[in-house]
Amino acid sequence: MNDTLADKKVLQIADKTISNYHLCDHCFGRIFAKVDHGLTNQQRGEILRNNLKIKKKFYSKNCWLCNGLINEIVHFSNLIKDSLSSYEYETFLVGSKVDEDILDKEQEIVNFTGSEYTESIKTELNREIGKILEQNLKKEVNFEKPTIMAIIDTSFDEINLQISSLLIYGRYKKFKRGIPQTRWFCKICYGKGCKRCNFSGKLYETSVEELIANRFLEITGGEDESFHGCGREDIDARMLGNGRPFVLEIKNPKKRKLNFLQLGKEINKINKHTLEISNLRYSNKDEITRLKHSNFRKMYRVVLKSAKTINNEKLKKAAISLCGKKIGQFTPSRVAHRRAKMVREKHIYDCKVESIDGVMATLIIEAESGTYIKELISGDEGKTQPNLSDLIGIPCQVTELDVINIKGE
Ligand SMILES: [Zn+2]
Ligand SMILES: [Zn+2]
Repeated sequence: MNDTLADKKVLQIADKTISNYHLCDHCFGRIFAKVDHGLTNQQRGEILRNNLKIKKKFYSKNCWLCNGLINEIVHFSNLIKDSLSSYEYETFLVGSKVDEDILDKEQEIVNFTGSEYTESIKTELNREIGKILEQNLKKEVNFEKPTIMAIIDTSFDEINLQISSLLIYGRYKKFKRGIPQTRWFCKICYGKGCKRCNFSGKLYETSVEELIANRFLEITGGEDESFHGCGREDIDARMLGNGRPFVLEIKNPKKRKLNFLQLGKEINKINKHTLEISNLRYSNKDEITRLKHSNFRKMYRVVLKSAKTINNEKLKKAAISLCGKKIGQFTPSRVAHRRAKMVREKHIYDCKVESIDGVMATLIIEAESGTYIKELISGDEGKTQPNLSDLIGIPCQVTELDVINIKGE
């Protein structure tokens, strides 16, 4: 807007306002916040009073609108500064909660004056507190993605911090079977602890998530965490090869500057022979989405056991016939409680026989992400078609399953 504080239209509104309301210069000037750049609202108020030749000045504590609130800016800045002192962060943003009474009065003035130049007292508080803190803290305000958002409740002198999560990318290998990827809460007590779960609140003693996250929580002072894996292997499957990508989300961390090299070493030492992590670095929200929606091919080593001695030629033929095939898998009963019942089409890119020994055989299978490998072998009572058991004419079961590579990441 090109209007100035000397314009007739502006002065008319100003005159009408100040004749009816006792306002401090801040609150008076704020009604014209969008007129003339480079001024504070207080300066605008002062200039307008001079232009209107009004001698009487109202101090903030006697102001009908803010009732002294605008004088508290330095006090609020200090409160926020204290509340941020135990955190590491790059950028911040200030928000404020202001008494309903004041907001109602603000609206009354807008309605009365019809001023199109006004801004809210909250906007002024946020901006002015932000300016002071930028100087004091030597940190920058960021409107888009602040590390910490500090919201001051002006009626109670209370600060509420909204701290952005710390996201860490890595890859994990799991050398032991029987460990789930994520925490499984006890189905009876949902984590509170009961007789059934021996008061651990958990179904399994530990998980990949906990083995990795515990040290990160310690070192960052985070309150909680969330584990975002790029797919998951079965509890009894090992995860080998190049490891599975994950993003660990640390909630409300105090510390953010991490020495990933050292942390990786520490975590690998603690979990020797069980788990190994690598490629640690900072991550972001987009990467979680990318990992969750990725369709990486997986390579598996499958040890199977058949009901009768396996014929070499038959098994090799069956393996070849699965190469490049699309299979249909109706939701297996073992996961039916958490997945929609439907037929999923999956690509089998490659299937090779590594070894055969009596009723045992080892296969290397490369398949689309989300393929149920155990069911591809057993047939799952006909719910997966085609399947290896049908192809060789002998029922087979997977006895060992390893993910040996995740491609395309
Ligand atoms: Zn005021
Ligand atoms: Zn329980």
